[in-house]
Amino acid sequence: MVFFISFNMLKIKKNIDLVRDEIKQNSHKTKKDIRLVAVSKGQSYIAIKSAFDAGQKIFGENYLQEALEKKKLLENLEIEWHFIGPIQSNKCKLISENFSWVQTVDRIKIVNKLNQYRHSKNPLNICIQVNISEENTKSGIGLNDVKQFAKLISNLKNLKLRGVMAIPSKTNENQNLVSQYRLLKKLYEDLKITYSSVDTLSIGMSNDYLLAIENGANLVRIGTKIFGAR
Ligand SMILES: *Cc1c(COP(=O)(O)O)cnc(C)c1O
Repeated sequence: MVFFISFNMLKIKKNIDLVRDEIKQNSHKTKKDIRLVAVSKGQSYIAIKSAFDAGQKIFGENYLQEALEKKKLLENLEIEWHFIGPIQSNKCKLISENFSWVQTVDRIKIVNKLNQYRHSKNPLNICIQVNISEENTKSGIGLNDVKQFAKLISNLKNLKLRGVMAIPSKTNENQNLVSQYRLLKKLYEDLKITYSSVDTLSIGMSNDYLLAIENGANLVRIGTKIFGAR
C-alpha cells in the first residue's frame, strides 16, 4: 500500500511537471499567463493531496457529493475549488457555499440561485458555458444568447463574471476544433470590452490543451494527463 501510494505520488508529480512545462513553453509564444485547473473527478483525496504537494492549488470537480466528501478530508489545504459539472438547481446552495468558481453556468434560474446563496465576502466567480459545437445534446447556451446572459450576471452583486468556457465537440480534425475555439475567443474579447471583470477563456482538456492555448485559452482543465485514466 505504501509503495502503491508513493508510486502514484511520483507519477502525479511527474505529470504535473510535464504539463506545466508544456504550458510554459506555449505561453511564451502567446505571452500570457495560463492557469491550470487539475480535474480530479473520480480521483481519491490522496491523489489530490499528491498534486497539491507538487504545487498544484486549483482543482476542478464535476459531481457535488463526491467533491464535498473530498473537500472535507482536505479542508486544511488552501485549495481553490472550481465546479465544472452539470448543475441541478437543488444543488445550487451547496455549490455556491463550497466553491470559488463555477464554470458551467448556462441557465438564468441557476444564476439567481447561486447569487442568492452566496454569503461569502468574496463573490462567486462565474464562467458562462457556451455551446460552440451547436450540438443539441451539449450543455451550454447558444452563442447568440451569451451577451444578454452576461448582462444579467453582471448585475448580481454576489457573482463576478470572469469569462466563458466550452467543451468542444469531439473531433479528430484540428481545423474543426480551431474554428470552435475562434468563435469562443471572439465572444470572450467582446465581453472583455464591456466587463472589466472578464479575464478567463476556459477551453482545453488533456487531448487538446496545447491547441487551445495556441488559440487563446488562458485557463485549461486537465484530468487524465495528470491523474491517469479514470
Ligand atoms: C472531465 C473534464 C475535464 C478533464 O478532461 P480530461 O480529458 O480528463 O483532461 C475538463 N473539463 C470538463 C468540463 C470535464 O468534465
